[in-house]
Amino acid sequence: MTGRANEMADPDDRRSEIAANLAAVESRIRTACEAAGRSRDEVILVAVTKTFPASDVELLAALGIRDMGENRHQEAAAKVAACVAAGLTELRWHFVGQVQTNKAGVVASYADVVHSVDRIRLVAALERAARSYGRTLTALVQVDLEPVADSAARGRGGADADETTAVAAAIEASESLVLGGVMGIAPLGGDPSEAFARLETAGRALRASYPHARMVSAGMSGDLEAAIAHGATHLRIGTALLGSRPSLG
Ligand SMILES: *Cc1c(COP(=O)(O)O)cnc(C)c1O
Repeated sequence: MTGRANEMADPDDRRSEIAANLAAVESRIRTACEAAGRSRDEVILVAVTKTFPASDVELLAALGIRDMGENRHQEAAAKVAACVAAGLTELRWHFVGQVQTNKAGVVASYADVVHSVDRIRLVAALERAARSYGRTLTALVQVDLEPVADSAARGRGGADADETTAVAAAIEASESLVLGGVMGIAPLGGDPSEAFARLETAGRALRASYPHARMVSAGMSGDLEAAIAHGATHLRIGTALLGSRPSLG
């Protein structure tokens, strides 16, 4: 984990660095799956490539990673275009950042999965945009995992329990959106196990109404073990694969 986004390293060095990081992450995932009595096949690794160049996406793809995550739309749109131009057309792009309603159109033009849907207006905007592009998007409801007392802060986005039900229903009713499941971000400084247990409960509640909504997007570089223990199906891993980012979220 020594790479930095703007370091012009020898491409062979970067390749071996990412390969070594991936092997370490893979080993953590396997160990956590074993501990949880789960099969490795139940968990998809989404490489969060934000701030890193398209060349890193190519290296990840060559190492067998198919799912890539981005969180800022300007950067993501350009990177997806660069990857398509380089012949990487089989990737699945996950948008994991907060989406401003007026940027939904851009996101819907390239994302396959949007993890961060937390309000009805955003559902409507994504549906309009996806339909105009003739695309189908998988949408996850982002559940607010801040402790109840802090939820006024809503720093990292997310719907409360009532909103989760309403947003899920709106996604389900949208022709060009598929309800995938739930997503959550463990609060900074909190206990990730406690947060992911609440996400697991929210996911289970959702599946009671929508059995096909099986995705649980949880777990980042620092807390993937807790996420796997609580039923994560999609891990969003940046730093542990690609190194530390310049600090801009
Ligand atoms: C950046 C980001 C990640 C990856 O975080 P790391 O700690 O670098 O693994 C995961 N999820 C979201 C929503 C992110 O914005």
